[in-house]
Amino acid sequence: MRDINFLTETNAKPIWHPMAHPAEMRANPPKIIMKGQGVTVTDIDGRSVLDAVGGLWNVNLGYSCDPIKKAIADQLSALPYYSGFRGTSTGPSIELAYELSEWFEPEGMVRTFFTSGGSDSVETALRLARQYWKIRGQGDRTKFLALKKGYHGTHFGGASVNGNANFRRNYEPLLPGVFHIPAPWTFRNPFDETDPARLAKLCAKALEDEIAFQGGDTIAAFIMEPVLGAGGVIVPHEIFMPLVREICDHHEILLIADEVVTGFGRAGAWSGSRLSGVKPDFMTIAKAITSGYFPLGATLIGGKVAEVFEADKTSFGSIGHGYTYSGHPVGCAAGLAALAETKRLRLDENAAARGIELAAVLEGLKARHAIVGDVRYKGLMAALELVSDRATKKPADKKTMAVVSEAAYEAGVMLRVSGNNIILSPPLIISAADVVKIGEALDAGLSKV
Ligand code: PLP
Repeated sequence: MRDINFLTETNAKPIWHPMAHPAEMRANPPKIIMKGQGVTVTDIDGRSVLDAVGGLWNVNLGYSCDPIKKAIADQLSALPYYSGFRGTSTGPSIELAYELSEWFEPEGMVRTFFTSGGSDSVETALRLARQYWKIRGQGDRTKFLALKKGYHGTHFGGASVNGNANFRRNYEPLLPGVFHIPAPWTFRNPFDETDPARLAKLCAKALEDEIAFQGGDTIAAFIMEPVLGAGGVIVPHEIFMPLVREICDHHEILLIADEVVTGFGRAGAWSGSRLSGVKPDFMTIAKAITSGYFPLGATLIGGKVAEVFEADKTSFGSIGHGYTYSGHPVGCAAGLAALAETKRLRLDENAAARGIELAAVLEGLKARHAIVGDVRYKGLMAALELVSDRATKKPADKKTMAVVSEAAYEAGVMLRVSGNNIILSPPLIISAADVVKIGEALDAGLSKV
């Protein structure tokens, strides 16, 4: 590898970074991260900070998980790649698919379609949902419904169901036949409703109204994150997802739970659907499936959908969809090791316990700093929404957000800024002392503005 001066001088010049303006990255180059150890990452200047971002919601096991590293190295030696397309398979992919259907048995998942990441998983679910209806002779069911503020990755299908203009506007026209309903977000919603349960009912009613308007028999599926992550950690009341399931059942609409963030413990349970006691028809997973050590994702398929595909005698049943890296043996080996560690360490329980401590810290910060308009949390996913004025809820500006996050970095904690939200999604292995450290760094950051 070239020397440090080369990296620092070259930095953002040859790369276009995701979710950033190329010119902005050139003017204000990103931090270069060189090492990771436990829950800490070290930048090119040798500064070590607690990673309260957990990579990108994914490094649940931290940076020193030797069993995953060993599994990757062993699999690389045995077989670095073979295809999972028709006619061939690999040991780790078979084993991981088997494990996943055991793990997500309470959610009713019975089959796995491997992908290379979350966007691929969403795309797969959307496509298989349409195919399901073609097999069932209801080819008019092509539309998708989704939540405003939802995030479902960046492929055209995913961007179409995304509920945030920032990820849509520059890429329109998107998929036709996609419609959005308000998210159950107490801080900002069109009903001015602050009671979470009442708001959940209003949003469920909006879903029913949209279905009535569109015609239920034109809708293939409704997609939602059980807890909305990238949209600013919006936590629906526990009645919301069951209500959605009920409405979908009534109109025979498939329910896709996008669990790319909430899968594998982050929200304090093994999935967001399990948290709500809901069995979706598809679950999309990625990120923590390998704890970020290898790009891998999967679309899990529920029993009802699997039966229809597997019993198909029409010309519609063959899956004309897949990725070169579907079931990558190294990724699946990494996944097997990551899941074994995740289970052994009961990361769901640690996320729930540390999440309660983090929530108390965030409420304390809100009480002390007027700039904190709202705090939202579930398990170890959390957001602080910063405002310049609590009465008007005017979002804090970009400069303010940068000052807070830089000051927190100086205080030893990496944060992520998304719009006027500070997003927290630390590794699920964090300790109580780590939670205190995150709180102190946030306090230092917020005290600067
Ligand atoms: N779905 C959700 C809920 C996500 O949070 C993300 C990414 O953050 C995606 C899908 C897309 O995943 P990926 O970035 O791996 O393509």
